[in-house]
Amino acid sequence: MNDAPTRSLPEEVTATSEVAAGAVLTIDLGAIRENYRRLKARLGDVRCAGVLKADGYGVGASQVAAALLREGCDTFFVALLGEGVALRRSIGPGPAIFVLNGIPPGAEPDAVAADLCAVINSVGQLAAWRVAASRAGRKLPAAIQVDSGMSRLGMAPRDVERVAADPHAFDGIDIRLVMSHLACADEPEHPANERQRLAFERLRKMLPEAPASLTNSSGIFLGARFHYDLARPGAALYGINPTPARPNPMLPVVRLEAKIVQTRMLEAGVGVGYGHIFHTTAPLAAATISLGYADGWHRRAASAAWFEGARLPFLGRVSMDSIILDISALPPGKLREGDLVELLGPSQSVEDAAGHAGTIGYEILTSLGPRFHRRYVGG
Ligand SMILES: *Cc1c(COP(=O)(O)O)cnc(C)c1O
Repeated sequence: MNDAPTRSLPEEVTATSEVAAGAVLTIDLGAIRENYRRLKARLGDVRCAGVLKADGYGVGASQVAAALLREGCDTFFVALLGEGVALRRSIGPGPAIFVLNGIPPGAEPDAVAADLCAVINSVGQLAAWRVAASRAGRKLPAAIQVDSGMSRLGMAPRDVERVAADPHAFDGIDIRLVMSHLACADEPEHPANERQRLAFERLRKMLPEAPASLTNSSGIFLGARFHYDLARPGAALYGINPTPARPNPMLPVVRLEAKIVQTRMLEAGVGVGYGHIFHTTAPLAAATISLGYADGWHRRAASAAWFEGARLPFLGRVSMDSIILDISALPPGKLREGDLVELLGPSQSVEDAAGHAGTIGYEILTSLGPRFHRRYVGG
């Protein structure tokens, strides 16, 4: 037993408080708003929703929603029921929230209570939403999703024909949207784009008349015939390039910086990090930062940090909570414990990091960890 007087715990210190966190993620809500305006400008009179699944692509769904509401956005998409309920709690009544992956069987009353719009992907989900409507004693809002060729979610053509032939199929359902999703929109020349558009045309004409929605971010850049009544961008709002073959028309949104824990001079001939996959051949100035794969920085992601324009290559493997940097590009003593170095930002874009990791910007963003201290600017 330790009977030393206990000091009160520091309440202000949490995993993500500024002093305690190993890394800082800065999210520019002003850039998100500008990106929304740029997409709107391309869409003309077509309405523009905001896709907030996976906690707003990892940057914070409720903060992004608040920013988009201020731009007049009144329609949001999430993937899961829980995300929809959390978003409703955060933004209050009014704006439409569509649940892309549909309402899990049995959870319809929760979706009704949160005033969510079901995205109906199957005949079974349609029947369940009809039952929920009759129990609620009112029409319930929904999007009917048809599969125009991605084979992921939505009613297959034969299911669309089946429900179209049933005069009671949509009893109690307020069809707010008929929608589908493009598989290859980031490849403008891909023949699947036009094939999907034509399939969508054919399928939606079998259903009761309702506003139509086909495009994600990249689809907005395929031309007006893909726009229909409502666009559903996600990635482009967050600064991910919707036109990968061309320069990015969007503003960057995130900046990730990690704290220096320790700097030191390594001797010649020492092994560095797990597995000793790197050995020094001469004395080398090194620094260790507080960021690792547990923070979503994949072992194969971009392998350098940046400080005032200088590239600081990683030495050896990425650890769970730390990475060792070669800081010999900087004058001795320039980098001190507690300083922040850039992992994502003006020197290294989300796309750059994704390119190194053999992945896409979407995966880099949505992997970014829950341990970061988050700063929202430009709101
Ligand atoms: C994720 C998603 C979007 C947004 O796609 P981005 O490529 O991020 O713009 C739109 N619609 C559906 C159905 C989606 O799943």
